[in-house]
Amino acid sequence: MSTTRTGTSCVDAARLGILLNELRLPTIKVLWPQFAEQSDKEGWPAGRFLAAIAEHEIAERARRRIERHLVEARLPPGKTLDTFDFDTVPMVSKAQVTALAAGDGWVGKGANLLLFGPPGGGKSHLAAALGLALVENGWRVLFTRTTDLVQKLQVARRELDLEAAINRLDRFDLLILDDLAYVTKDQAETSVLFELISARYERRSLLITANQPFGEWNKVFPDPAMTLAAIDRLVHHATILEMNVESYRRRAALERKRAPGRPPVHATAKTVVE
Ligand code: ADP
Ligand code: MG
Repeated sequence: MSTTRTGTSCVDAARLGILLNELRLPTIKVLWPQFAEQSDKEGWPAGRFLAAIAEHEIAERARRRIERHLVEARLPPGKTLDTFDFDTVPMVSKAQVTALAAGDGWVGKGANLLLFGPPGGGKSHLAAALGLALVENGWRVLFTRTTDLVQKLQVARRELDLEAAINRLDRFDLLILDDLAYVTKDQAETSVLFELISARYERRSLLITANQPFGEWNKVFPDPAMTLAAIDRLVHHATILEMNVESYRRRAALERKRAPGRPPVHATAKTVVE
């Protein structure tokens, strides 16, 4: 490049590259020559040049952090708030969900969100979409089927590692437990779930989806006292959304039937995914 006419010529670029590596400033390393050229051409004060490249380094760092958090969140693909049709769940307002997606009002405080409703009503979709928005807003999230996590915690308990395993989950501001009601106490030792709920109480948030309201949770926990104690902790600081709507899939199928030859707006993408 035209290094001879610019300030880059009076610098040992190779040496500077090594220094910037050492300082772990990869974005500045890549961007400084073009910024230096512009800065020389336009006669920027040195402070402006420094501020400009520092801003880029910070922005790129934030982008990479979010990228890492997206990978670790293990969100199901394609479930976003943009593709969530709020018209089908009139009891859930878009404004409320938008506020929840910021996270400050609840994730920052270790409060919980509980989504109830029959199968197909969009609980998992909404949970995943909220998870995605929260990651984009800087929170750390893990999405997991409740049964999968319970199994992992049971293994940890057997290896006398339960406390450490629960502590490791502390790095997530929000843990999304999808389909709590599918966990049954026949799977033995669901008390690990209770221990998780207790450990996170008032410190780290949980988002739980369940087909069954609390009345049926006796099937999940080993005894009624533990069920009550779990519910008590979960609801103490919680937003509860009851999504009592008809299955989105069934609705889409019915719409297709009613208007043959003219595919309904919602059906296409969703049915392909399944
Ligand atoms: P649930 O978890 O309540 O059983 P899901 O979230 O899995 O329901 O929804 C079933 C399917 O229908 C998914 O493919 C989901 O993306 C889609 N779906 C459900 N509700 C909506 C909605 N309101 N807008 C867009 N897609 C929806
Ligand atoms: Mg679901």
